[in-house]
Amino acid sequence: MAYSRREFLEWSGVMGAAAFAAPLYVSAAEASRREPVKYEKGLEQPAFLLLPLGAVRPTGWLRRQLEVQAQGLSGHLDETWPDVGPESGWLGGKGESWERGPYFLDGLLPMAYLLEDRRLKEKSQRFIEWTLKSRRPDGLFGPTSKQEDWWPRMVMLKALTQYQEVSGDPRVVPLMEAYFAYQRKNMPGNPLSSWARSRWQDNVLSVYWLYNRNGEAKLLELAKMLHDQGYDWKAMYTNFSYTRKVTREDFDREKHSKEENHPSHGVNNAMALKAVPLWSLQSKSAEDRNFLVKQWETLDRYHGLANGMFSADEHFAGTNPSQGIELCAVVEAMFSLEQAMAISGQSALGDRLEKIAYNALPGTLSDDMWSHQYDQQPNQIECGFHSKPWSTNGTESNLFGLEPNFGCCTANFHQGWPKLASSLVMASQDKGLAVMVYAPCVVSTVVRGVPVEMEVATDYPFRGGVEMRVSSAAPLMFPLHMRVPSGESPVFMVNGEKISPVEHEGFVPIEREWRRGDVLTMKMEMKPRVVEGALGTVSVMRGPLVFSLPIREQWTKIRDRGLTADWQVFGESAWNYGLVQAAELTVRERPIGVVPFAKANPAVTLKASGVRLAHWHESDGTADAPPEDAGKNVGSSEVVELVPYASTKLRVTSFPSATEQKA
Ligand SMILES: [Zn+2]
Repeated sequence: MAYSRREFLEWSGVMGAAAFAAPLYVSAAEASRREPVKYEKGLEQPAFLLLPLGAVRPTGWLRRQLEVQAQGLSGHLDETWPDVGPESGWLGGKGESWERGPYFLDGLLPMAYLLEDRRLKEKSQRFIEWTLKSRRPDGLFGPTSKQEDWWPRMVMLKALTQYQEVSGDPRVVPLMEAYFAYQRKNMPGNPLSSWARSRWQDNVLSVYWLYNRNGEAKLLELAKMLHDQGYDWKAMYTNFSYTRKVTREDFDREKHSKEENHPSHGVNNAMALKAVPLWSLQSKSAEDRNFLVKQWETLDRYHGLANGMFSADEHFAGTNPSQGIELCAVVEAMFSLEQAMAISGQSALGDRLEKIAYNALPGTLSDDMWSHQYDQQPNQIECGFHSKPWSTNGTESNLFGLEPNFGCCTANFHQGWPKLASSLVMASQDKGLAVMVYAPCVVSTVVRGVPVEMEVATDYPFRGGVEMRVSSAAPLMFPLHMRVPSGESPVFMVNGEKISPVEHEGFVPIEREWRRGDVLTMKMEMKPRVVEGALGTVSVMRGPLVFSLPIREQWTKIRDRGLTADWQVFGESAWNYGLVQAAELTVRERPIGVVPFAKANPAVTLKASGVRLAHWHESDGTADAPPEDAGKNVGSSEVVELVPYASTKLRVTSFPSATEQKA
């Protein structure tokens, strides 16, 4: 059956998405910079190749989200927070000289280039110029006040590699060559310790990046040294002993040294999600390559939360939905998933990435992105000064503000959206392209030697339709691999004609001769579903979106903080509902607002059936553990409206299962 373009657009819900406006074809020099870099022979080939920064650019709602970010704290942080301001050690000043400057640049730089924003490019260039000029004859670079610590340079290297991809600046590769020679020489005498020991894989990432550009075998020796000196994450997850909440008392009682605190630390674990798959490139072990799916199973079992993350506030904290997860861990888990998904090609990692990106990331930032939390909770009924049930974090951890609890997230959260945008589409090993995560974007790269442009128009995750226009300089045969989100059986059409490609390991390959103006459409059903969680709870999802019961919010300013402010948020409506699992879920789609996840106008809502549970209490602004049924969660039902998790800052997400009282 053939559909007109307009019929398809109406049917799939793409109407209202950004109109096709891609400028087709770029210069040959520009195209070559957008070609994926192939792996050298000393490494195992990954399943997919990430495209260089700038090859995939956000459009539609995702571009608006990045614009909101640029207009918020991310675009102004250096103007209001001294740690990344003019006195930063990474600008030659006497201020903060450790991880905060590099963290900020690691998100500011891709945001600036993806938005083609001159003001932000100038800001990021100041850090780049100082860093490139800081290189010493022995190869070390960066502020000398922390020269014995390997960690902050691991972050700066990630920013420098992105900068080289997008600019082609010839100063980057020589700096990295000199620095890695310095590491080879000095690491035996000054081995990895503390944060650097736990985060060695972030250094290996940049070592491999350089190896694939210069083929220098000594770099693989350095990578092995980093691996061997680094913490053994594979061993930890093979015999996982952190099966319950870690408490302050655990540390005191067991007299842990600081070094021994690292393995249960949330951000370390989020960064380490990529450690074993990344090392598989060198170990060439299939077990290593596919390790992350197993690693997530362990995290889900003992610390899983309904927003896709594991709990860690700031150490592993169990499955109670009133436990929290730190914003740094959210963006680092996303980055790890982007890297690991390219290596292993496992479709399930795409599901996880979408779940975290479309729920946990926007759910812990204010709509205007001027304030954020340190810890967010799936069941978050108040954000106040009360002492919370955190494992070790302080009382301010779930306030919204400039730097609640500690400033690491303030410096680090900026990478979340830009790096997601850059990873939506990758190159496949059979010389084609692959859509890994669904969001609106335009891709320009080189396939089989020919410049290709591809536009992905979609309002996913709010709608189930995707429309793609593929264009090349000449008709070109290549496969396009479409990831199939878990639970979906999409319908595909090319130029209005239905096709029936066969799914293979979570991807559908569509191989044909693509001609300019060809349109591929994909339609997913996006049926709402109830998902079982820990402690007898249930949560509701539709596609990758998790839904929550919103609690009416009263925002109370605590104090001004330069260009922004710190806030408490108090609840003003009932929250203690159980969910009638058997009841129907009714979907209502609404227009997507300028701020895609805004509280004021959620783009999709669900009507569900709830039962008020008088025996589910709170203490000091925290919901008690959800009462398990045992025949008690019974009552007369009410219609409740659920909205996307991220459209709420006070919410209940993990519901006790409840039963409607028979009249
Ligand atoms: Zn943090």
